[in-house]
Amino acid sequence: MNSLWLSNDNFIKNDSFNSLGENLETEVCIIGAGIFGTTCAYYLSKLGYKVVLVEKDKIGSKATGNTTGKITSQHGLFYNYLNNSYGEKFAKDYLDANEEAITNIKKIIDEEKINCDFSYQNAYIYTTKKENINSIRKEFNTLSNLGYNPELVTKTGLPFEVNLALCFKNQAQFNPIKYLKGLCDCILKRNGSIFTNTTVHKVEKVNEDYIVFTENYQIKASYVIVATHFPFINFPGFYFTKMYQSTSYLIAIDTKKTLSKGMYISEDKPAFSFRTATYQGKELLLIGGGEHRTGEPSSYSDTYGLLEQEAKKYFPNCEILFKWNTRDCISLDKIPYIGYYSSIMPHMYVGTGFKKWGMTLSNVASNIIVDSICKKENKFAYLFNSSRLKPIKNRTEMKNILIQSANSLLLNKLRPANMNFDEIANDSGSIIEINNEKVGIYKDSNGKIYAVKPICTHLGCLLSWNDVDKTWDCPCHGSRFDFDGTNLYDPAFKNLDTFDLE
Ligand SMILES: Cc1cc2nc3c(=O)[nH]c(=O)nc-3n(C[C@H](O)[C@H](O)[C@H](O)COP(=O)(O)OP(=O)(O)OC[C@H]3O[C@@H](n4cnc5c(N)ncnc54)[C@H](O)[C@@H]3O)c2cc1C
Repeated sequence: MNSLWLSNDNFIKNDSFNSLGENLETEVCIIGAGIFGTTCAYYLSKLGYKVVLVEKDKIGSKATGNTTGKITSQHGLFYNYLNNSYGEKFAKDYLDANEEAITNIKKIIDEEKINCDFSYQNAYIYTTKKENINSIRKEFNTLSNLGYNPELVTKTGLPFEVNLALCFKNQAQFNPIKYLKGLCDCILKRNGSIFTNTTVHKVEKVNEDYIVFTENYQIKASYVIVATHFPFINFPGFYFTKMYQSTSYLIAIDTKKTLSKGMYISEDKPAFSFRTATYQGKELLLIGGGEHRTGEPSSYSDTYGLLEQEAKKYFPNCEILFKWNTRDCISLDKIPYIGYYSSIMPHMYVGTGFKKWGMTLSNVASNIIVDSICKKENKFAYLFNSSRLKPIKNRTEMKNILIQSANSLLLNKLRPANMNFDEIANDSGSIIEINNEKVGIYKDSNGKIYAVKPICTHLGCLLSWNDVDKTWDCPCHGSRFDFDGTNLYDPAFKNLDTFDLE
């Protein structure tokens, strides 16, 4: 199931880039061509740096190509949390950094003449429940104290009544894949190099430089930026102990009606997100929601089913044209990690933990890292210090990470499988035991069998079957594999071992 953005772009379908075919030397090697890596490559090539951008799959084909594409500093009800946890200056700087990112993105689009369906929109966070009114009011008060002037409204463009909504003006939306295409054109024009279908396996420091290893070739670089979404190098950095992944779902519908403007997200449970998008001359409505921790079991009715139900409630004659999902990294303190990969690895950088708001945060991250390479101070860098060692406030998620790791690394591997081969229906999967060994089985709709070793190639957790997407998902760190064992999502980058049962 491909997103609206990925399904309709020849840039992605006809991927015209080569994979790496020789050893190279460069000033900056950027690993991962989502919005973060591509933005870094854009800014650095503009400043005259020699850049090489390497991508495991296709440009923007992971989180960025499956996003909702809202460009906003409204990250849920977040500023009251920041103000209470880190103080007024921190909350104000976080807001300014994200507002500045909206301006930066628009500046790139204007300067480079990128046609990416950018439009300014108001962003609303709303509630239809009386019990959430107070939280919205508190957020409004915090923002007003920070000198920002959002509006409290009770009328929106949504097809239902709300109790209260907080409106940020001059936010924006775009088509993220068209934007990435524009950035790639600029990188190539400025003599940068881009390689797709090229997986980086490791990075080693050799004297003052880094060697980036792909399967067959190496890139020697003075600086490396790890823009792989979830950092794939485990030691040092230890990002796998401080982040988890969360999946959300989207549908794009033709409502057969004229739609009002605006981008919306609800504070209620279950939460929904809305925006419009242009498709073949029509305005579609995108509806998002169905969030759950990646790797946790979920059903069709709690994910796409929930969104379809919401769509039909307000637009009974609507046509569902696209369905897709993706996931994003969330740090335990909800603040991204941006800066040095580790204090013992100078000149190697990371940007991750964008918590489903990576359109602005990736721009903030790119500017911080580019400034560091240029030895320029960045007033927002302190917010995201990647080597921070602060007490973890989110004890619930920390406990979840520890429990999931203990279960998936050890306990579940010892538990007997609760299904046998004959019980697995067609177009479904499960873990069974063959000769005391756990085997992941998927039977396709014709009964063809795919058998994999259901152990994550990242850190060895036992995978779980995802019956909505027909994938093997890792409950520990969120890696995902197709039913045949092909690696789809980071932090793992190797395929699963397979068995021939015929
Ligand atoms: C459902 C959903 C909706 C969202 N909507 C919004 C929104 O409206 N607004 C917003 O601001 N944010 C949104 N986000 C968040 C946003 O999409 C992400 O934060 C952002 O796309 C992350 O970009 P990235 O470049 O870090 O990661 P990615 O786009 O995943 O890019 C990382 C790239 O690295 C590559 N890679 C991985 N490992 C390797 C390797 N070993 N070697 C080489 N390449 C590698 C991958 O193939 C991938 O292309 C949403 C997230 C979700 C889950």
